[in-house]
Amino acid sequence: MAHLGADVAAFVDGQLSDSAMQEASTHLVTCDECEKAVRQQRLLKSRMSTVRAPEPPAALLASLAEMASTPPPRERWWVRLTRAVPFRAGVVIAGASVAVVATAYAIGGVDRVGDEVAPPYNRYAADFTGGSTVQTGNVITEATMAELDSSGWPCHETLAGDLHRVSGSYTESGEVVALTYTDGRARLNLFEQNGALDRAGLEGFTRTTLGGSDVWVRDGQPLVVTWDGDGTVYTIVTDAERERVALAVEDLPRMTSDAGPVDRVGDGLTRMSTWLGAA
Ligand SMILES: [Zn+2]
Repeated sequence: MAHLGADVAAFVDGQLSDSAMQEASTHLVTCDECEKAVRQQRLLKSRMSTVRAPEPPAALLASLAEMASTPPPRERWWVRLTRAVPFRAGVVIAGASVAVVATAYAIGGVDRVGDEVAPPYNRYAADFTGGSTVQTGNVITEATMAELDSSGWPCHETLAGDLHRVSGSYTESGEVVALTYTDGRARLNLFEQNGALDRAGLEGFTRTTLGGSDVWVRDGQPLVVTWDGDGTVYTIVTDAERERVALAVEDLPRMTSDAGPVDRVGDGLTRMSTWLGAA
């Protein structure tokens, strides 16, 4: 049969007819190109499902903070708030009440989104030492990396200023995005996967602050750093100096699981629910 083309999304969503699904499945067995497209679509889709608040909603926080002693007319702040909140991937607020939206953001800060995952740290470290970074056949193209990047999978071209991205690949049955950076001397492998960090799998790691984020570090050669933020688990395996690793961490979403925007939102929420109750 022909390539899946525009039917990739429908296939992933299971929305093709039974016979078309069957035909597509058969085609995927022999077509690398379509298989890759399907894998990417699955990644994007899975990211969408776990992205609730991709980053602290600055505009929302600002709006809440603005609600000082005198509440503005109801329509005005409602309108302003709906306009202020950016419509990002997976964040659909149309039709939801402001309170619900604000609560979702607040909860997003503490609630750990997605399944608990424990990255295979030892294998990552062994692969790093062994020099194998890219699994052939699983290469992610530059164009795809750009697309992933804009869909909540950070694929920065550089990290820590001068570590340049040299390759990207899918590992672990396509569920993990693996990126390799180097400045020609130091190497840094970055792994990204959906989910929340399984704290039980962190034996040998120490909780610390690096690059302004709470992370778990396993000292040694290579150094392993892992954390989760916004529904993604990040793992860095590197021989770069700690200061540069800190800069790399700084370039990525920080751990939101324990220090969410709850405190900041809290006051605004209390204020808002008072008004809603009074309205
Ligand atoms: Zn094909």
